[in-house]
Amino acid sequence: MASTPPTPDRIRKRRALGLLGTALLLLAGAVLAAAQHVDYARPVEAAPQERDIGADYRTPVVQHAPPRAQWREAVDVGLLAVGLGLGAWLSLARRSRAGMLLLAVGGVAYFGFYRRGCVCPIGSIQNVAVALTDPQYAVSYFTVAIFLLPLMAAALFGRVFCGGVCPLGAIQELVLLRPIQVPARVDRALRWLRWAYLGLALTLAVRPAPVRDFIICRFDPFVPLFRFAGPAYMLVLGGTFLVLGTVIGRPYCRWLCPYGALLSLPARVAWRSVSITPDREYDCGLCATACPYGAIEERRAVRTDCVSCARCYRHCPRHHVPNGAPAAAAEARS
Ligand code: SF4
Ligand code: SF4
Repeated sequence: MASTPPTPDRIRKRRALGLLGTALLLLAGAVLAAAQHVDYARPVEAAPQERDIGADYRTPVVQHAPPRAQWREAVDVGLLAVGLGLGAWLSLARRSRAGMLLLAVGGVAYFGFYRRGCVCPIGSIQNVAVALTDPQYAVSYFTVAIFLLPLMAAALFGRVFCGGVCPLGAIQELVLLRPIQVPARVDRALRWLRWAYLGLALTLAVRPAPVRDFIICRFDPFVPLFRFAGPAYMLVLGGTFLVLGTVIGRPYCRWLCPYGALLSLPARVAWRSVSITPDREYDCGLCATACPYGAIEERRAVRTDCVSCARCYRHCPRHHVPNGAPAAAAEARS
């Protein structure tokens, strides 16, 4: 039997996927070439000495926080990979909102409070940018993996990292209680801020070492909350985002996160991504206002903006029809 020729749309998508795959491979190659084992040891003699400072100054014995054991870093990368896999399975195959919520709780608990927000692909943008531009700067293989894994997952399954693995997104997901819709025009305009912030962060990160600044980390609004420590203004900023986030869906993710902006690129041509109906579209419009993140347009999830939270499924009648998707039906019955 003759096979159906691919449609122009499918051909375009295949080409885009090919280009994206090549770009990701090139980026991975360049970053891995710049990566190396990071030696944290800094001689105590290089620090300011008691004799130079005078008064009661005592040179601290520990000059740097001791490096995290390699096996622990490998565990972090492994858990990130497992979280991404779980996010894809729960949001796309199981179509489970409850599962995504549990994943979000896990993301906040481990990557947020336990790891204190510092297994962070968002901040790693800066490390990677500096490693690519400054031969003196070392970035570890683990940092490279943390940076690349969510991008690769986005090329396959959409923004599953945002769905529940990223602690910054997850904590905003958990506090959103009574979402209101932000006018689409305002939302669209504010989303450009992410790119401006990314440009500014890269510009400041790749400056010469003495004046280098990692502003994504310095002004991360949630890390001080995960650490129960930090400048008062940052704690207030984090608290403000959370209070605002009870009614406005993920304000930091939508309008400021530079890594979210990067993730939207591979997500655009993802191999599989969120589809609101498990199978046949009704075009009933019941989902039109279901998404608190402004990611449904013309009754379809917008790949670049959808954060794989699985909220919209429950608004779709097909999700509850027993002969819809087997997994969806099973969940609907449970
Ligand atoms: S948009 Fe940024 S902060 Fe939000 S979940 Fe995604 S990576 Fe995390
Ligand atoms: S379309 Fe909106 S509600 Fe549905 S999974 Fe994506 S972000 Fe969540």
